[in-house]
Amino acid sequence: MNILIINSGSSSIKYQLLEMPSAQVICLGMIERIGSKEAILTFKSQDYKIERICEIPNHKAGLERITDLLLDNEKGVLKSTDDIEAIGHRVVHGGSTYTKTTLINEEVKNKIKTLSPLAPLHNPANLEGILMAEELFDTAKQFVVFDTAFHGTIPVKAKKYAIPNELYNNKGIQAYGFHGTSHKYVSEKANAFLDKKNTKLISIHLGNGCSITAIKDGKSIDHSMGFAPSNGLVMGTRSGDIDHTIIFYMVNTLGYSLGEVNELLNKESGMLGLTGFNDLRDIESEARKGNASCILALEMNAYRIKKYIGAYIAAMNGVDAIIFTAGIGENSSLMRQLVCKDMDYFNIHLDDAENDLKSSTFREVNSIDSKVKILVIPTNEELEIAKQVFDLLS
Ligand code: ADP
Repeated sequence: MNILIINSGSSSIKYQLLEMPSAQVICLGMIERIGSKEAILTFKSQDYKIERICEIPNHKAGLERITDLLLDNEKGVLKSTDDIEAIGHRVVHGGSTYTKTTLINEEVKNKIKTLSPLAPLHNPANLEGILMAEELFDTAKQFVVFDTAFHGTIPVKAKKYAIPNELYNNKGIQAYGFHGTSHKYVSEKANAFLDKKNTKLISIHLGNGCSITAIKDGKSIDHSMGFAPSNGLVMGTRSGDIDHTIIFYMVNTLGYSLGEVNELLNKESGMLGLTGFNDLRDIESEARKGNASCILALEMNAYRIKKYIGAYIAAMNGVDAIIFTAGIGENSSLMRQLVCKDMDYFNIHLDDAENDLKSSTFREVNSIDSKVKILVIPTNEELEIAKQVFDLLS
């Protein structure tokens, strides 16, 4: 069965075509910088690797380009769009309504729209991807996998805010949790590796968005993001934890509008606000040259992660393994080193040589005497989504 996975972001579309249940990747790629004259389109199959710079004004045009490549006489991998049996869409916010992979219908689409104010960077783009895919692949069954779903197991004491009950009971104000597909995927890999019945894991997803999850016996029990994907760790452009009175101060005293504060906290803060760069590779390279803002930003970032690790060890009364995943977690030996430094009280010890090895596979980077395993696990949200869609159809 051919399953196409679509992850439609605010200015990007990532896609992957998989044959299930073999999990063979038929082709994959992405479009970055949608809306610009210099959008980057990539496509990789067994026989071809394509990278094109071209004008892609919107998501519809983007998905049409991807479809053209999939069907291309020479380089394509499909004869007709009918060869795709199902499409799995990643959607960031499913509220408390959707805790499982769901077949898309009008009600689901309306709910994704209703939840857009809670994930303004993501849900509108996710919905756009669904609408376009329905047009272009009209015979395929369309499913949605919500990033919030894995966190449906977080107990009330951890997900409820200490504000009047009415807001939790009737208005849906609570912590939801995000990056669930990734945390689920890597924690299952870690559990298979640990091969014991009861496990306590801390999963750290560090990409453009960053989050950390406490996972006990395979279930998410606490998570750093909250009502929207903006709380918690320092991210590429998002501030993470911030005292909410700062927002009132900025509006009432400094003269910002609420919209401007929202924009500033979501798109101009985090590593970008601290350094002028949001790509960690640039920040690391500047730090090596002695750029003081970059050095401090890296320290702040790692310090925030450390505090969450401490909190989750307390929440679970222990930890068997810490997992690093996503672009930064998998590739930045420096970030892993800063996070794991001076954690001997918890018996967390990194092996510097293992940590420095470049690899794109599952690996253990703790030293032999470390009681806590430190695992680098490449995430694969697309495969996880494909598995969930396949399970529903078979
Ligand atoms: P997204 O949330 O968009 O899926 P990714 O998981 O692809 O993000 O992660 C993007 C981040 O990973 C960027 O900040 C990028 O700088 C960082 N990254 C990728 N490769 C490396 C590397 N070799 N060293 C340090 N950071 C890296």
